[in-house]
Amino acid sequence: MKPEAWKCRRCGDCCRWPGHVLLTDRDIARLAQNLRMADQDFIERHTRLASNRAQLSLREKPDGSCEFLEGSACAVYEARPSQCRDFPAAWNVPGECGMVKG
Ligand code: SF4
Repeated sequence: MKPEAWKCRRCGDCCRWPGHVLLTDRDIARLAQNLRMADQDFIERHTRLASNRAQLSLREKPDGSCEFLEGSACAVYEARPSQCRDFPAAWNVPGECGMVKG
């Protein structure tokens, strides 16, 4: 996707979509470091087994939004997982985000 085709309005809607924020080992290490926690403590406190039974994902709030969403901002933005970093250049859900063309 060309950068000019995408302009984020920082609404946070993509952090409220149903589904998992899948985590790599690197994501876990980066988030744990950001929160000044041991990796294992981060895993126990902030993750759960994803439905694919092969990866961990971030826990959600009762309303389904990501537990790190505060208002419409990401509380761990500098350390956000690769899945979040890659949207929408590497993956996209057609029609879900009004700011993404295509
Ligand atoms: S980690 Fe941050 S960017 Fe990723 S879904 Fe959660 S609030 Fe959104």
